[in-house]
Amino acid sequence: MLTAVVGVNWGDEGKGRMVDLLSRDYDVVVRYQGGNNAGHTVVNDLGKFILNLIPCGVFRKSCVNILGTGMVIDIEHLWGEIEELHARGIEVTPENLKISEKAIIVLPYHRALDGLEEDRLGEGKQGSTRRGIAPAYADKYNRKALRIADIFQKDTLRGKLEVILGFKNLLLRGYGEEPVTVEETLAWVEKFGAPLAPFVANTEDWLESAIDAGRNVMFEAQLGTLRDLDFGIFPYTTSSNALAAYAPIGAGVPGRRIDKVIGIVKAYSSSVGGGPFTVEMHGEDAEKLREAGGEYGAATGRPRRVGAFDCVASRFGVRMQGADTLALTKFDVLSYMDEIPVCVAYEVNGKRVESFPVGDDLEAATPVYEYLPGFKCDISKCRKTEELPKAALDYVKYIENAVGARVEYMSVGPHRDDYIIMSR
Ligand code: GDP
Repeated sequence: MLTAVVGVNWGDEGKGRMVDLLSRDYDVVVRYQGGNNAGHTVVNDLGKFILNLIPCGVFRKSCVNILGTGMVIDIEHLWGEIEELHARGIEVTPENLKISEKAIIVLPYHRALDGLEEDRLGEGKQGSTRRGIAPAYADKYNRKALRIADIFQKDTLRGKLEVILGFKNLLLRGYGEEPVTVEETLAWVEKFGAPLAPFVANTEDWLESAIDAGRNVMFEAQLGTLRDLDFGIFPYTTSSNALAAYAPIGAGVPGRRIDKVIGIVKAYSSSVGGGPFTVEMHGEDAEKLREAGGEYGAATGRPRRVGAFDCVASRFGVRMQGADTLALTKFDVLSYMDEIPVCVAYEVNGKRVESFPVGDDLEAATPVYEYLPGFKCDISKCRKTEELPKAALDYVKYIENAVGARVEYMSVGPHRDDYIIMSR
């Protein structure tokens, strides 16, 4: 079984939590895009963890975790994550962590350039986490980047860096910054790269063997549809493809082999950073929802923008992900609401719109709301569909009809066991 677990919305839907839960049925978990620019939060018997790079299967002894070819990897940050897990009693070894030899390395100057670009944008900031992700992907597509395998091909490493830094220093000088030397970059690559050797593998070969042997593989996405580089709210997107369609490329398996896509959809909306966010709440309503949902960035601590469930964006999200089923998360958070607002359509320049608009139309869109009855009780202890109040079930049905997919899993709390498998 090959399953992709992906975000339907703007990210932060609770993918980490769902991968941690669902990975019990999987032998391998692969991250296939992104870097350490977002955090996946996992709460289980071992404690609360925020993972930026390492797949959320790391807490299961039986799981092999792969950093796929489609990722950009800050190897200094990776060691920090490995050491933190070690310090808390979780073993990360070459047996349970494999790093694609073809993944791109995020170098220190990528972080510097990310900050310089974001600062230069001033008012028009794109919401970068300043961790070098966009500059590293830009260099990948410009074919002026280092890959993990380059660390170990010592005869040519210096020469490759000389060529790349020749270009990078033009840019850094343009910003009025000191150029980067080959020596300092080599020293950094040596320090954080050399000890990775036992973890590095041809992960597509490894995956092919695992799949041939009948192993179950999960593909863990970072962020969600609306942050996808091609189909999200460009330019306020991430720099990689968050869609399930990219999983085979970013992991290195044939595209036709994915069996199932599970879309993670949050019971309300949240968004970090800049860009259009049609359903954004303000004032007291926003404060209440943000507090109830603990909506502060996992990687950055930034308060997240929050709003009602957005049927327009989520329908688009489900469709673009090709989600077969949904996991509805953070449903317990809505229990304080007397009535639950749902955005059923947008209005753009006086016209009702139900498909997700682009560019200026999206900027101009205003939400059209309907209000469903609140359920006004604590559902966080519910473990069966029958235990849910009617108003809660009605909300679920409403969402299913609006987005065109069924909810298979419902999450009613952050802990691994706080969930319901929906029966009808
Ligand atoms: P991800 O990036 O998609 O993995 O999501 P985040 O880790 O950024 O955000 C999810 C946050 O919500 C984390 O703090 C989780 O512990 C928490 N969480 C996940 N599912 C639930 C849920 O069903 N209810 C509640 N109350 N919290 C949840």
